Amino acid sequence: MSELTVRAEKLDAADELAAVRGEFVLDEVVYLDGNSLGALPAAVPGRVDDVVRRQWGSLRIRSWDESGWWTAPERIGDRIAPLVGAAAGQIVVGDSTSVNVFKALVGAVRLARLARDGRDEIVVDATTFPTDGYIAESAARLTGCTLRPVTPGQVPGVLSDRTAAVLLNHVDYRTGRLHDLPSLTAAVHAVGAVSVWDLCHSAGALPVGLDRHGVDLAVGCTYKYLNGGPGSPAYLYVRRDLQDRFDSPLPGWNSHAEPFGMRPDYEPAPGALRGRVGTPDILSMLALEAALDVWDGVPIEAVRAKSLALTDFFLECVEEYVPAGLVESLTPVAHEERGSQVALRCADAGDVMKRLIERGVVGDFRHPDVLRFGFTPLYVSFADVERAARVLGQTLGS
Ligand SMILES: *Cc1c(COP(=O)(O)O)cnc(C)c1O
Repeated sequence: MSELTVRAEKLDAADELAAVRGEFVLDEVVYLDGNSLGALPAAVPGRVDDVVRRQWGSLRIRSWDESGWWTAPERIGDRIAPLVGAAAGQIVVGDSTSVNVFKALVGAVRLARLARDGRDEIVVDATTFPTDGYIAESAARLTGCTLRPVTPGQVPGVLSDRTAAVLLNHVDYRTGRLHDLPSLTAAVHAVGAVSVWDLCHSAGALPVGLDRHGVDLAVGCTYKYLNGGPGSPAYLYVRRDLQDRFDSPLPGWNSHAEPFGMRPDYEPAPGALRGRVGTPDILSMLALEAALDVWDGVPIEAVRAKSLALTDFFLECVEEYVPAGLVESLTPVAHEERGSQVALRCADAGDVMKRLIERGVVGDFRHPDVLRFGFTPLYVSFADVERAARVLGQTLGS
């Protein structure tokens, strides 16, 4: 056995989260794509079967009350809350991330203008996941704002008393860079603007501290590190003291103070419920609820510690196994700037990833030249990491 194989064994033996892996459906494949679609928690199929056969099949309409369907968006929001450092009553689950970016960003501009009219700029991370940029452009047009796409590092320099809202990613989806949420939020607040954070690549992988850092609005998906399943609904966080002023641009009947009053005039519900729109997608939502059971008793700090240990070990194994000069890491070395993935720039990356997948190591390819490996601390082992780097070295060396 090589020195790195021995190290992997020792690290796995000392891993306090090792047992959580048993709660997932996995096979001999090394799965490093949980930042795109989290693996299936073993409890989900049974729960979905119950929801479909008993709750829908037999209770039918009664399930809106008796099975807790109607209150699922806020109940499941409260399950996500501790993972992102939020007290209860501030998160609702529903719709896609894209739709929630729209609600949050237009809502943010409206909030900013309540405090001071005339704010007419939206600042957005230019390196963002494309959907956030597309939605921001439309939100800017609808609200009569100018869109200012800049890199996150440039954000403090472009903020002014014209800034209404700032949309930022906590972790960059391509490079895995972790942005400084506390200091960027403080800078946004210093000019009286409203912050919107996209947590897609941080929630479930590292502590976010929404309440502690005074974040205004946040959105995130649940099918990456939260393992909710393909297309599982996203969530919206509205900080408690902003809720009574949050004016959703999608005021559907589910966010009405009296949804079954069927009144012609709109009156928003109190609290986080204002983030709801229409009838919740119950099948996906309750699959997500079952998936969240794997977090019981798992401190997010332990997840972060293991995530950093996994990515450190991966970088070390790549250094050892991959011939010099064939890959270049785009992921920051400094822990305070690193999310839970490693991005390696590599020639013919698309083809290389195909060959890795054939050899049982699943990551993904991001245009134009990036091999992306996501490390989900709940189920990725150090042995997986060592094998992935070894297979990468063999693939590139041959
Ligand atoms: C994954 C991801 C999304 C996904 O948006 P959907 O509307 O859920 O498809 C959006 N933004 C970021 C930053 C992401 O990483």
